[in-house]
Amino acid sequence: MTSLQELLLSRIQDVPDYPKPGITFKDITPLLADAAAFTALTEALAEICLAQGAQKVVGLEARGFILAAPVAVRAGVGFVPVRKAGKLPGATLGQAYELEYGTAEIEIHADALEQGDKVLVIDDVLATGGTAEASVELIRRAGGEVTGLAVLMELGFLNGRERLTPALAGAPLDAL
Ligand code: AMP
Repeated sequence: MTSLQELLLSRIQDVPDYPKPGITFKDITPLLADAAAFTALTEALAEICLAQGAQKVVGLEARGFILAAPVAVRAGVGFVPVRKAGKLPGATLGQAYELEYGTAEIEIHADALEQGDKVLVIDDVLATGGTAEASVELIRRAGGEVTGLAVLMELGFLNGRERLTPALAGAPLDAL
């Protein structure tokens, strides 16, 4: 394990049985409150953004916003939010996806991306991959080209990486 990984892991708190029994929630608020850890995370993600030549970063609501916004500033690129349905004020494109029980929908502003914009997608935790998969599809429909997906943490036992393989179509998935 690298020193960056040790630092990041030491600032992520496992919260058992939240938000429901059997789920271990990965709480990143201690990491965000630690200037050194948050800066190191931002710099590592910004390096990925620059290496991929991304022109925009897309953050996934809600914790993806917190990580992606400073990355955009650091890398000198724009930030675009992908939000839960009904939150964006302008004309939107929507994408529904399956949850364990029922469905969810996310949206992007229809004019948020230029045709061919290279986009890095950022979120905190990759679990089943459903949210990321829907986001990648949405970004493509909005005209973007996904250069990669970067997350702080991947819950490997949920096999999100496998689920995302077709959607990513060769674009890298980086889990710090
Ligand atoms: P999924 O679509 O299953 O990959 O879920 C990913 C989304 O749910 C991300 O936006 C995460 O913030 C959140 N999430 C899922 N599982 C967890 C967990 N165990 N701890 C913290 N956040 C989670």
